[in-house]
Amino acid sequence: MAKRDFYDVLGVAKNASDDEIKKAYRKLAMKYHPDRNPDSKTAEDKFKEVKEAYEVLSDEHKREAYDRFGHAGVDPNMNMGGHPGGAPGGADFADAFGDIFGDIFGGGGRGQRSAGPQMYRGADLRYNLDITLEEAAKGSTKTIRVPSWDNCETCHGSGAKPGTSPMTCTTCNGQGQVRMQQGFFSLQQPCPTCHGTGKMIKEPCPTCHGAGKIRRNKTLEVKIPAGIDDGMRIRSAGNGEPGQNGGPPGDLYVEIRILPNPVFRREGDDLHCEIPISFGIAALGGEIEVPTLNNRVAFNVPAGTQTGKTFRLRGKGIKGVRSAQPGDLFCHVKIETPVNLTDREKELMREFDKLIVDGGARHTPQAKAWMDKVKGLFR
Ligand SMILES: [Zn+2]
Ligand SMILES: [Zn+2]
Repeated sequence: MAKRDFYDVLGVAKNASDDEIKKAYRKLAMKYHPDRNPDSKTAEDKFKEVKEAYEVLSDEHKREAYDRFGHAGVDPNMNMGGHPGGAPGGADFADAFGDIFGDIFGGGGRGQRSAGPQMYRGADLRYNLDITLEEAAKGSTKTIRVPSWDNCETCHGSGAKPGTSPMTCTTCNGQGQVRMQQGFFSLQQPCPTCHGTGKMIKEPCPTCHGAGKIRRNKTLEVKIPAGIDDGMRIRSAGNGEPGQNGGPPGDLYVEIRILPNPVFRREGDDLHCEIPISFGIAALGGEIEVPTLNNRVAFNVPAGTQTGKTFRLRGKGIKGVRSAQPGDLFCHVKIETPVNLTDREKELMREFDKLIVDGGARHTPQAKAWMDKVKGLFR
């Protein structure tokens, strides 16, 4: 049995206030309450129906979902209750749900439950958009080309060759759907002959080959919010594939992919970079230049800095889409051993090294500690 429109069940207008809905529910619930109608199956069913309608229409979110998508929008089995049409979770949307969606939203919104070809929501589309780390940090506007469909001008969308017209499908008698018996269940399915359109085209239009639509490309501007991260999606409502038989179009999901950056590695809102510094600066201390996403900043390296030391520059990371403050920049120091030494440099280095070695643990505490550990091994 097809489900009745919830507004009809309660006998209220589509724009009824919460109070009107409550009053109507109370009146009907009293009338059909099982205590008052013992042994009446009809009353029991009515009571259930009224209760279900009220549960949806008295809940702001459920009512909104119901208004937009009909019963499918609030059916708990559809697992869509909370966010009809809202941003989906992490699942691979377009791929996984493209076809299922057509079924979920079939039948369209309320008020369209009458007989006739089934409406199908268009499939969602996904577009992978590569952006640089700088664009992700500062936000940007990108122009993308996405597929779109126009009604075929030759057949004006009918799909039939000019001079002919589509015929009513003989399999489903124009209903667009057929009932199939599967075990105990009777399932309504799109008609396999006409794919839910309710029509058969004997002589297809030569321009669109019977589709009624021509694929074109259109240009869209995508606003990328500052701080967006790899893998996030931007939803562009209604820019997916067109619906069938007057069904709503799907959505376009622009999935952001951030290109590798030669200097910075992003971890959430933080940035990491490696900075090679000279042996001299590391030993003596001194000012170095540190790159940030915006400019360069001077940074004082303290004397005696070792390889692997990390300096943290607060607030020089990225301010995430939902973050109150920007993250930090972590600079990982790497001391570069000088190469291609001249004879003079070698001579100075040997002299210098001798002084260091003679100074022992005072200059090289790590080497001393390590030697002590090694000695301990052979004791
Ligand atoms: Zn055509
Ligand atoms: Zn059919």
